[in-house]
Amino acid sequence: MDIKQIDKQYIANTYARFNVCLTGGKGSILLDEKGKEYIDLGTGIAVNSFGIGDEVWKNAVIAQLDKIQHTSNLYYSEPCALLAQKLCEKTGMKKVFFSNSGAEANECAIKTARKYGADNKGKEYYTIITLKNSFHGRTITTLSATGQDVFHEHFTPMTDGFVHATPNDFAEMETLVKTHKCCGVFMELVQGEGGVMALNKEYVKAVAKLCEKENMLLMIDEVQTGNGRTGALYAYMQYGITPDVITTAKGLGGGLPIGATMLGERVQDLFTPGLNGTTFGGNPVCASGALSIIERLDEKFLEEVRQKSEYIFSQLKNARGVKSVSGMGLMIGVETEKDATQIVNECMEKGVLVIKAKHKVRLLPALNIPFKQLQQAIEILKEVIEK
Ligand SMILES: *Cc1c(COP(=O)(O)O)cnc(C)c1O
Repeated sequence: MDIKQIDKQYIANTYARFNVCLTGGKGSILLDEKGKEYIDLGTGIAVNSFGIGDEVWKNAVIAQLDKIQHTSNLYYSEPCALLAQKLCEKTGMKKVFFSNSGAEANECAIKTARKYGADNKGKEYYTIITLKNSFHGRTITTLSATGQDVFHEHFTPMTDGFVHATPNDFAEMETLVKTHKCCGVFMELVQGEGGVMALNKEYVKAVAKLCEKENMLLMIDEVQTGNGRTGALYAYMQYGITPDVITTAKGLGGGLPIGATMLGERVQDLFTPGLNGTTFGGNPVCASGALSIIERLDEKFLEEVRQKSEYIFSQLKNARGVKSVSGMGLMIGVETEKDATQIVNECMEKGVLVIKAKHKVRLLPALNIPFKQLQQAIEILKEVIEK
């Protein structure tokens, strides 16, 4: 049975896969079909927050599987309610809409902003400002929000009502607000797919103030930056702002699909029954796993995440062959003299899995990666970059 051949024949040709079939692992160690071991610095794109087969997460998931695997949203369900409560208590947000992915969480944010605009400013106030180089998902509307033309090609017409601003250019943002009828700003604080670029704090604070002044929603896409990834529970907490809407997904479920759109005070009562919905969203198994993740992201744990981050930055910043290191927490982009694809392949050869973001090598290790394994992986990465 040649899995790679079957995959090539039967899976839609949307992915350029690496020549590896992953079959198992534990923590930050992955195994391929030949039994080769890898130290994982990619976590399935910031999803496996506590690595492979984490015991606490697995027990939470299995315990729920033993009770009931799905209820639909026609009935009350404990894991979903407790997860929403925990998220609100930890962020100060007021209500949560659960879905299954980042794109869906973002769709809900976009609906929120449009209804907010219509309710409070007038029907024509539907434009949302997003940033150039952003990534917000693959549905037609989240693609439209995504400020990269390459993603729009082949799929026009895009959904109306998005304009794209240059990151960190506040004057341009002000101009766009004056020239369009806007209901909100939607942005990543660290652009992940765009090359792991953190926005500067003064800019973000100024945008937050502008939103307040112009009665627009400040919406933060924390699909990738959320859930401890940047060294805070959510990245916005390091920017001194209070968003009206926060979306998250990826690391929230620890490996199972879940998306969340958190609604702040100004929009907590915006939705009424029937205005949004999903069959799978808030699935009890996914929610139980997610709750076990969020419960463990306390200050002490996040301090360890920040220490590991400092270690990586200090190791790579002045290393030979490295042009720059960007990002926050355990979401790191490394710009290298050598081609990034070549680095990814050579690292794989040597038993370390890293991924790419644009022309950079991207590191997204498990938040609980043992320091020794991290050290080992970074040594190998440095060797590969330098040669
Ligand atoms: C991955 C990502 C998305 C899309 O999430 P999916 O779960 O793939 O739909 C949206 N926004 C950001 C910032 C992301 O990193």
